[in-house]
Amino acid sequence: MTEVLVTGGAGYIGSHMCVELLQAGYDVVVADNLSNSSARSLQAVQRITQKPLSFVEMDIRDEERLAALFRSHRFDAVLHFAGLKAVAESVAEPLRYYDNNVNGTLRLVEAMSSAGVKTLVFSSSATVYGTQERVPIDESAGTAPTNPYGRTKLQVEQLLHDLGDADAQWRISLLRYFNPVGAHPSGEIGEDPNDIPNNLMPYIAQVAIGRLPCLRVFGDDYATADGTGVRDYIHVVDLVNGHLRALDYLQANTGVAVHNLGSGRGHSVLEVIAAFERASGRPIAHEVVARRPGDVARSFADPGKANRELNWTATHDLERICQDAWKWQTRHPDGYRTA
Ligand code: NAD
Ligand code: UDP
Repeated sequence: MTEVLVTGGAGYIGSHMCVELLQAGYDVVVADNLSNSSARSLQAVQRITQKPLSFVEMDIRDEERLAALFRSHRFDAVLHFAGLKAVAESVAEPLRYYDNNVNGTLRLVEAMSSAGVKTLVFSSSATVYGTQERVPIDESAGTAPTNPYGRTKLQVEQLLHDLGDADAQWRISLLRYFNPVGAHPSGEIGEDPNDIPNNLMPYIAQVAIGRLPCLRVFGDDYATADGTGVRDYIHVVDLVNGHLRALDYLQANTGVAVHNLGSGRGHSVLEVIAAFERASGRPIAHEVVARRPGDVARSFADPGKANRELNWTATHDLERICQDAWKWQTRHPDGYRTA
């Protein structure tokens, strides 16, 4: 059986990845320091799949423990989700972000290299594109991230390109996510922000459940159909299935490949609110306020390269995304703190 290491596997996307990996027959080992997650997510993963996984609570920057982990397993591949992801926090604490995201990845690939494990899927982000006026965005668009978080992602991409150039045995997939949202259809795992959410979908879900009073819509004077910002929302299950396809792709291809993971469709803030109202049967209180600094009018993917080369396409629409997000929210109104 194929054994894989999932760094950051207790987190939002990583936990969904574990479900799909286990269901596809992989043996799964998770390494996570639980800095932004709960081990309860992994208990839920095992309930959903009725399959066991191994969990090691550790920081990926801990070289000794990482080396020991690679000595005690024969991994075929690593899926690397561990990282910090809050844009505003990265502006306030850049060193923490560079250390965790860039050094963390460096330590990981050093350990992989020593152990002869040279297949890696990395969670990159559409934030590496920065402010693009032209949509849809394909992988040939320039990269110019506008904040430290985005720059850590781009630096890791560059580091991995250099590694692939230096050693032809590496097989590396860089996946640039657009806006991952939604939850597993079981309602047992989902996004569980620590504080007040920064992102639209978890914010709306918390307004719907009554944890937050009102959504602020950041600007309705953009050059879009209804004036509000347009983004490419991708169901988290579609997203992690893209990683399974990337693993298949890496079996047949060496080198470094870059793919967008997005639906290719854009939805405005008002469209998302309306869809969530239909899914939840509840009104979403909202008010229009000033634009959020740094936001662009429209961002959505050209997923054609992933469609062709990974044989992957997003299948869940916005209605389904909102239904699944609402199911998770109603079953776990306080996230994993709900027993
Ligand atoms: P998350 O915070 O829910 O998951 C990240 C996990 O990594 C957490 O469980 C955290 O405890 C763990 N972690 C962080 N630093 C670690 C370290 N040094 N050692 C061990 N574990 C560590 O975030 P997520 O939304 O699941 O994101 C997963 C990855 O995808 C991240 O790399 C993120 O930057 C990237 N990404 C996320 C989005 C998004 O909107 N969610 C978009 C683009 C890219
Ligand atoms: N947005 C909003 N109110 C919020 C959070 C987000 O109006 O409380 C808007 C934001 O301006 C953008 C869209 O929703 O147009 C998606 O924002 P999010 O932060 O989720 O993703 P990103 O901006 O990183 O694509």
